[in-house]
Amino acid sequence: MWSSCCRLRFWPALSCAALLLGCATTLSVDEERSLGAELDAEVRSQVILEPDPVVVRYVQQIGNQIVRAAPAQPYPFHFKVVDDDEINAFAGPAGYVYVHTAILKKARNVSEVAGVVAHEVGHVVRRHIAQNYNRAKNANMLKEAGVVAAALAVGGPVANLANLGGGLAAMAYVNSFSREAESEADAFAVEVLPKAGYDPHGLVTFFQTIQREYGDGGLSFLESHPAASDRIEATTRRIETESLPPDLREDDGGELEIIQRRLQLLAQERAHRRAPPR
Ligand SMILES: [Zn+2]
Repeated sequence: MWSSCCRLRFWPALSCAALLLGCATTLSVDEERSLGAELDAEVRSQVILEPDPVVVRYVQQIGNQIVRAAPAQPYPFHFKVVDDDEINAFAGPAGYVYVHTAILKKARNVSEVAGVVAHEVGHVVRRHIAQNYNRAKNANMLKEAGVVAAALAVGGPVANLANLGGGLAAMAYVNSFSREAESEADAFAVEVLPKAGYDPHGLVTFFQTIQREYGDGGLSFLESHPAASDRIEATTRRIETESLPPDLREDDGGELEIIQRRLQLLAQERAHRRAPPR
């Protein structure tokens, strides 16, 4: 996401094709599209995707509404839900956006979920990953692989660095996704959310949730990303400059609560299935 902590969990599984693409000086839309599909396959082999169609559809509907309000993109977006209790979301090349179930569980209303999704869409629309290719063209293969594999994460604790698949790749990623890119994705979210009918204050209140869960330090990942408090302040200021229509949605009439209850029941059911027979 989005939180400001961007991490790179998937790089070790990168295929040769991705590495070869990594050598290109500029990532074209076609290359980005095939890279996105390829990395999606890698991601799917390394995470547990939430299979429940109701939960997935819920996120897809929010995502599609945001995409419709955004400038036209040369590829379709794919919104997927990852069964993971860490507050996180990330985007791959060419419109692949992954939202952890923890986002749905911790969000207090739909505008918060939409805020996270809009931030990720912002990374894709602003082509931050493609830009990283240009920036990294003189870097070595490993570093470029790290950039390619990078997921745009929002807000995981620094402890998760251990899971990144290597400090070098993590550093490459973090260095590549600048404070400016994060701030640009936040700005995009503030702009697009009202057009999609969502109250952009959800972005701010979700930053506050992240701050409560992880503290400012957790978000200020290697000090290369803005701390939660800085993002809260900057985003609040941005919202104040927007003239917001009066009928923006903060909640969705109990739909999120139904999804949250459903996730609870699914977790119980899965735990029950995993329990050894007596
Ligand atoms: Zn981000």
